[in-house]
Amino acid sequence: MVELKQLKAAQPELATAVDMQLELVEAQRRVQSRVPLPWIQPDPEWVAAQQRAGRPVIRFADIPLEWSDLRLTLRQTADILHRYEAIDRAEHEQILTLSRDGNALQPLVSQWYATTSGVDQTGPRPSASPHAPPSLDQVLVLSMRPFLARCAESLLQRADLSAWRHGHCPYCGWEPDFSVITPNADRRLICGRCLAQWDFGPLTCPFCANDDRALITSFATRDGKYRVYACDVCRRYLKAYDGRRASRPVMVAVDSIATLPLDAAAMQRGYLG
Ligand SMILES: [Zn+2]
Ligand SMILES: [Zn+2]
Repeated sequence: MVELKQLKAAQPELATAVDMQLELVEAQRRVQSRVPLPWIQPDPEWVAAQQRAGRPVIRFADIPLEWSDLRLTLRQTADILHRYEAIDRAEHEQILTLSRDGNALQPLVSQWYATTSGVDQTGPRPSASPHAPPSLDQVLVLSMRPFLARCAESLLQRADLSAWRHGHCPYCGWEPDFSVITPNADRRLICGRCLAQWDFGPLTCPFCANDDRALITSFATRDGKYRVYACDVCRRYLKAYDGRRASRPVMVAVDSIATLPLDAAAMQRGYLG
């Protein structure tokens, strides 16, 4: 919170984005404080098999979902996004209706998690295919975060995922949304849904596994605090906080907003988020 307010003072052009982020963080913090740390104790052999197959380890049944809390978070998240014009009125209405309809919400959420996590997938992992309207996707990712973050927190101590080498999250299967370069110049990816972190080659594209250095474009902000790795094969990019010259650890809620100008620079070069 303090860092976000400092960012707003230092870069007034980011004020609106900071204000929206402050509200989202506050809403998530309120729910997360109520979500119990689930007791998940997966069989180590199952974990190893999931890992070999590139499948994550949070099963839908593991998520300590309190439906009334989820409905409230959905509503609040949709309200915030609508107020800051990140979603339009029709989308806002659609999400409010969904949050009131218990019969529709539960199957939708479990189906959405099944397809986007790939945890039970027996065949190859589905590539990021359109599963829900983009605005609903965004609201669901934010609303499920407090619950999934608790699961990842619990599993961090009980499942050994150190051998995971995939570009998607070992806990919930979502894509990385940010990353951090460690003082040893390794890279840790940060899940865009549950915020878990995992090691991944610094010069490999997590989205298409391209590891030809000649086809990875990297550039940094002038102060060297942040960096972009863009892939010239699939045209996607990922931002990073450069921990090699940093005075504090990565803070995704702050760093993802502080780097909005980098997104603009990457998109101007023709890369996609
Ligand atoms: Zn995740
Ligand atoms: Zn790529």
